Amino acid sequence: MSQYRAPLAEMHFVMTELAGLDDIAQLPGFEDATVDTVGAILEEADKFATEVLDPLNRIGDRVGARLGDDGRVTTPAGFRAAYRKFCELGWNGLSKSADFGGQGMPQLVAAAIDEMWNASNMAFELCPMLTGGAIEAIELNGSETLKRTYLPKMVSGEWTGTMNLTEPQAGSDLAAVRAKAIRQADGSYRISGNKIFITYGDHDYTDNIIHLVLARTPDAPPGTKGISLFVVPKFVVNADGSLGAHNDVRCVSLEHKLGIHASPTAVLAFGDRDGAVGHVVGEENRGLEYMFVMMNLARFGVGMQGVGIAERAYQRARDYARERVQGRVVGVTRDVAAGGIIGHPDVRRMLMTMRANTEAARALGYVTAAALDRAHRHPDADVRKRELAFAELMIPIVKGWNTELAQQTTYLGVQVHGGMGFIEESGAAQYVRDARITTIYEGTTGIQANDLIGRKIARDDGSALLAAIESMRSVGRRLADAGSDDLTAIEVRLRAGVDALEDAARWIVARWGEDARAVLAGAGPFLDLAGTVCGGAQLGRAALIAVDKLSAGDGDASFLRTKITTARHFADHCLTRAPGLRDAVVADAASVLALADEQF
Ligand SMILES: Cc1cc2nc3c(=O)[nH]c(=O)nc-3n(C[C@H](O)[C@H](O)[C@H](O)COP(=O)(O)OP(=O)(O)OC[C@H]3O[C@@H](n4cnc5c(N)ncnc54)[C@H](O)[C@@H]3O)c2cc1C
Repeated sequence: MSQYRAPLAEMHFVMTELAGLDDIAQLPGFEDATVDTVGAILEEADKFATEVLDPLNRIGDRVGARLGDDGRVTTPAGFRAAYRKFCELGWNGLSKSADFGGQGMPQLVAAAIDEMWNASNMAFELCPMLTGGAIEAIELNGSETLKRTYLPKMVSGEWTGTMNLTEPQAGSDLAAVRAKAIRQADGSYRISGNKIFITYGDHDYTDNIIHLVLARTPDAPPGTKGISLFVVPKFVVNADGSLGAHNDVRCVSLEHKLGIHASPTAVLAFGDRDGAVGHVVGEENRGLEYMFVMMNLARFGVGMQGVGIAERAYQRARDYARERVQGRVVGVTRDVAAGGIIGHPDVRRMLMTMRANTEAARALGYVTAAALDRAHRHPDADVRKRELAFAELMIPIVKGWNTELAQQTTYLGVQVHGGMGFIEESGAAQYVRDARITTIYEGTTGIQANDLIGRKIARDDGSALLAAIESMRSVGRRLADAGSDDLTAIEVRLRAGVDALEDAARWIVARWGEDARAVLAGAGPFLDLAGTVCGGAQLGRAALIAVDKLSAGDGDASFLRTKITTARHFADHCLTRAPGLRDAVVADAASVLALADEQF
């Protein structure tokens, strides 16, 4: 039996040494996020994840959310009680604004805690994650009345939130949204239309659900400039805050899915009768613009799903490999029975790759979270601007690369289990199925790769990426000067990786204006290249710090040595792919674009 335990020492190391928790705690409003307080919060979260969420993950998968004949959605036994407890303990409001009852913790702390919820039970975590997105949409752009009416109850978790973007003809392309919104004399709107794939679109956790819905007013301009954002509660909220009539929104069906079975994915029909009562968020026709601001956090959140589920898959595979005995371990004289398959070189390689992938993805996630915190709270405007540019560059990488890595990591988790991995009872297969959605929702990997190239690189002639490359080169110089065999070897791989990334980035900037289609043919490999090199650089930093600490006799020597070994493994086994990825980006895109559609 494998039980999840949050990797607290590793989380603490990444938060303090790589992401700069101490500096974050100096920012205005984050004074409570001291290393000690955050350590205590992480320990409490670990307990909740281990004792409450992890044991529910299997039943969530086996039973799933159901839509009854009475039209009510029920979640698997134990989920509702877990949600209540989650809210009672204040987890829902951890990083939400204190103005609405939250605890105002930095994004960096929320990232680590969210990783634990995702590792132990991703289907559960989706509910608070979506509520967080809806809270942000209202907080950033809603009127004072909307904020007062909805935010305190959403922050406490008394009500949950959803994001209603997708329609059958509008998935990656939200310009195709058709849902309608008709303004009424009292300033409210009547919303009608069908939304599909709505996460926690209906459930039994709470008395009310606050839907954030994209729709068009009748005179709106076509395309992206004519989409507005509306708050549409499941139950209309009276002026005194009590619940009124059931709004004109109905859960038509729940999808049968590959994974995340406990998370109800609903088809919602708005306005079967005379239209659901809705309230515009901000100004008409600016809905998509508001969504994009909010999407940063949602995409970041999905990237952390990738980290969480990869960590859990690693822990389960490691625990199995220690127990499963099979064959004699070549070159080791010890009795086979004394050690499991963990002794076999190929199994160790798989475990090391799982571990290195997860640590690289975590480092990218936490460093990006800290950049978001600085971008919002740093007193110096130049620092805010620089950190925002870095965070925006990194978001598609954290979303796209971390989640693709989670596919590889959960795949290896099954492989380590052998035949048992294919058998549901082992639990390894669930992670493959659950992880699969993370590269799809909140914008597919293809959309992240396009965003990275079109919005984050071509638009500013690559200046944010070139700044990141310069700081990776300075990590390389420090690795070269350290006089350690491991660090020297990492430096060689990192230098080749950074050179490859710079070549590809300069090629993209030069070619974008003349042939964007050819550039986008290499978007996927470029995203992979950027994630691989940025992740390798973070692990290189970690190894440098570990070497310094070891020579100063500071910290847990065994843990610090694992950081060096993991960085070395990533450099030798993963960073070595970088030059090949560069070649795939800059190679003539002819093979991708050559065949006529009918030749496929
Ligand atoms: C379980 C689940 C939960 C979801 N939860 C929500 C939710 O809560 N709220 C919500 O609104 N939506 C939700 N979605 C919808 C989700 O965000 C979309 O499925 C996703 O954005 C992809 O859209 P699509 O399914 O229409 O695929 P399509 O857009 O049809 O994409 C199909 C393929 O074409 C590629 N493609 C499309 N356009 C481009 C392009 N311009 N360049 C390159 N490649 C492209 C894609 O990468 C993909 O490989 C959920 C979906 C699922 C399955």
